[in-house]
Amino acid sequence: MADTRSPDVPGDEAERLQALRRYGILDTPMEPAYDELADIAGHVCEAPVALISFVDQDRQWFKAVLGLPLRETPRSESVCHYALQHSGVFVVPDLEQDARFAHFGIVTQENPLRFYAGAPLITPDGHALGTLCVLDYRPRVLSERVLGLLSALACQVVRLLELKRANDLQGRMLADLEAARQQMAVLAHTDALTGLANRRSFTERLRQELALLQRSSEPACLLMMDIDHFKRVNDMHGHHVGDQALQLLATLCRDVFRAADVVSRWGGEEFLALLPATRVDQAQVVAQRLHAALAAHPLSGIEPPLVLAVSMGLILLDPLRPLDVTLRLLDSALYTAKREGRGRTVVV
Ligand code: GH3
Ligand code: MG
Ligand code: MG
Repeated sequence: MADTRSPDVPGDEAERLQALRRYGILDTPMEPAYDELADIAGHVCEAPVALISFVDQDRQWFKAVLGLPLRETPRSESVCHYALQHSGVFVVPDLEQDARFAHFGIVTQENPLRFYAGAPLITPDGHALGTLCVLDYRPRVLSERVLGLLSALACQVVRLLELKRANDLQGRMLADLEAARQQMAVLAHTDALTGLANRRSFTERLRQELALLQRSSEPACLLMMDIDHFKRVNDMHGHHVGDQALQLLATLCRDVFRAADVVSRWGGEEFLALLPATRVDQAQVVAQRLHAALAAHPLSGIEPPLVLAVSMGLILLDPLRPLDVTLRLLDSALYTAKREGRGRTVVV
């Protein structure tokens, strides 16, 4: 591609463009704060055209523009491009008389612009991003005092840019903080290994359900599961395979239980599930589905594939019975299941 950035590109061009990107100003909508500074520049210099121009790689883009129906022009036709490398305000008394600019569209057009004065927008780390500039339809000169005011206004534009960057940064930090807060909230309620509800959040949900049950005639069931001979899994295959077994059980639970049910990792290899609006006979069907799912989905990756089994205790929730009593009853039903040969469900 032809290089349109004639003639000489600033020495810090790559860093300069990087700095420009960092401000995130290009192609943003017009804003009153910038319009007002351009307006003041026009008034101070008594010029009909005033611009806040950022010199991008191949174009100059106007954040504010008074007196011209444009938002950008090619960099090859940018007077501001020359202003970038000029210390102080870059003044061209008559564009038509200057070989560098005489062929530019703004000079050859029907109503040609003749005069240019641009104060560079210099960042605190020394990169010129563009200019605050004024143009006129007749050749002019500006007093030192007016040029000083134009420079001062250019500094105000840079302050606006710095403020925007600080604001953007703060916005990003707030968004990051909020995402971290949400993540923490999820983690606080979730078991890290299985992704199931943890004991604390499940207890909370259980208490809610018990309170609801006191005012409802609908039944609800609680199901306690304990993996059979789980110590052997750890002993024979290692703790990491034990962890995979826990994850497999969690996955199968997600398949077998309904969306309204809540399954938790109650502790170790014991899982507790709440089945709202469910009778005991319906819960037994669910329990049976879980026994079948475990039989049908051995833990792969080890030879021979390992078939897991669970023993379960099942109880109808009685809102008038204290929770610790319910859990003890459930525990003894579970151990009856163990005693009676494992891989089965015993109802309280
Ligand atoms: P039973 O059929 O009577 O339940 O026999 P069991 O071997 O499963 O006995 P028990 O329920 O007492 O064993 C629980 C084992 O679960 C002991 C412990 O090492 C293991 N365990 C608990 N938490 C984890 C865990 O997060 N990861 C792994 N890999 N093992 C765990
Ligand atoms: Mg156990
Ligand atoms: Mg066990």
